[in-house]
Amino acid sequence: MHLSNVFRELHKRGMIRSAIPLIIVLLFNLLTVACTQAPQQASDGKIGVIVSILPQEEFAKSVGGDRVEVTVMVPPGANPHTYEVTPAQMVQLSRAKIYAKVGSPLEFELTWLDKLIAQNKDILVVDCSKGIELMESTDPDEPGIDSHIWTSVCNVKIMVGNICDGLSKIDPLNRQYYEQNRDDYLMKLDSLDSNIKSTLDGAADRTFIVYHPAWGYFARDYGLKQLGIEREGKEPKAAYMARLINEAKTSNIKIIFVSPEFDIRSAETIAHEIGGSVVAISDLYPDYLENMRNVARAIREAFK
Ligand SMILES: [Zn+2]
Repeated sequence: MHLSNVFRELHKRGMIRSAIPLIIVLLFNLLTVACTQAPQQASDGKIGVIVSILPQEEFAKSVGGDRVEVTVMVPPGANPHTYEVTPAQMVQLSRAKIYAKVGSPLEFELTWLDKLIAQNKDILVVDCSKGIELMESTDPDEPGIDSHIWTSVCNVKIMVGNICDGLSKIDPLNRQYYEQNRDDYLMKLDSLDSNIKSTLDGAADRTFIVYHPAWGYFARDYGLKQLGIEREGKEPKAAYMARLINEAKTSNIKIIFVSPEFDIRSAETIAHEIGGSVVAISDLYPDYLENMRNVARAIREAFK
C-alpha cells in the first residue's frame, strides 16, 4: 500500500495519534531501504566497475566510456601476486555493479576475490579470461599456469569482449554504445599488434632476460624467448644466477629487464657480471596501448 493511502486510511479512522509509532517505523524502514539501495550505483549515476589491475582500467573505460566509473584494486607500483586489500577498498565494492576479474590464476584474485564479492551479493562477476587458452609457464623449472594473460594483445581482444558482454548485461539499453566502443578499441588493438610485429621484425636475437617473468604470452605471440630471473616469486639461488649469466654471455645479451614492482638487485648483479645494464618495463602500467608499444621498442633495442 502507498504511504499516503496509509495516512488517509488512518485519518479516516481517527487513528493518526495512536499510529504515530507505526508511522515512525514505516518512515525509518523506507529510509533504510533508500540508503541501502542508493550506493549500488556510483554517486553520479555511472555504473561502478571494479577491476583487479591497472591495464584493465583502460579496457573497461574504453568499452564503458562516460557510462562507467572504474576502480582498480591493485594500485600503481603494487604487486598483484602479493597485494592486500584495504578496508576502504572493501567499501568501494558495495557501490559497484561489476567486478571484472582477470580470471587467470592471479594470486590477488585467488586470495581476495571471494572476500571482495561477499561485500556485495548483487555484483556481476565478469571473467575476462573466458575464452582465452591459458598457457603453461614456458620455464621448465617453474611449472604452472602463466597468469599474465594481458601481455598478449590477442588475449586482450577477448578480455575486452567479455567486459562488453558484462556491461551489456547490466545495462542492456546501452548495448549498442558498448559494442561500438568495443569495436573502436579492437581496431586500436589490431594496430598495436601490427606495430609490435613491425617493431620486432627482423631481430635476429630473440631471447631476453627479465626479473619477473610476466611476458610469456607476449613472447609466444611474437616468437621470442623469455628467461626469468625470479624463482617461484623469490630471489634466485646462486647456481641459477650463474646459469643465467652464462646464458646471457653466450647469447650476447646486454640488457636485463626489471619491473618497478619488484626487487631489482639480482638483475643488477647479472647486468654487472655481463657488462650490461638494467632497463625497466612493466606489464602493469596503466596506458595499455602506449605501454605495450614502449615495451616492444625496449625489447627490440635490447636485441641490437
Ligand atoms: Zn606478475
